[in-house]
Amino acid sequence: MDDCIFCKIVKGEIPSFKVYEDDRVYAFADINPVSEGHTLIIPKAHAENLGEIAEADLMAIHRVSQKMYQAMRSALGADGVALVQANGKAVNQVVMHYHLHLIPRKNSESRLSVTSWELVPGDMDAIKVTSEKLAAVL
Ligand code: 5GP
Ligand code: ZN
Repeated sequence: MDDCIFCKIVKGEIPSFKVYEDDRVYAFADINPVSEGHTLIIPKAHAENLGEIAEADLMAIHRVSQKMYQAMRSALGADGVALVQANGKAVNQVVMHYHLHLIPRKNSESRLSVTSWELVPGDMDAIKVTSEKLAAVL
């Protein structure tokens, strides 16, 4: 896609710090890192979100995420790695080309706010109804 910044990164028209590449996948450093080593894994083929991405690209990205997890543990000394992936402006997707964030974190660092929400018990009847709505279409 001509006006997509991540397509331009894949084509080398915008510079990036490449971490990994294969025929389907490109991985590079996020330039606004939440922590040291914050990396994005994207499909080379443009797809906006989880609804659009080809299943083979999705599988390829997740295979690479496992390698990346191990690399972050061994090369960066990460104690944990969060995988975050936003679909749609309602959940703050800013770049409209599918991307999986890998955010490594050490025990000595502060907790990652995106994965440390407050645990507030929900209404069990409402949870049941919502679960049934989802189950009905799956
Ligand atoms: P989103 O909020 O869409 O999940 O995240 C988009 C991410 O892309 C952000 O973390 C942002 O820092 C990163 N980003 C935006 N533009 C560029 C760029 O030109 N190069 C790189 N490496 N990362 C970018
Ligand atoms: Zn794109």
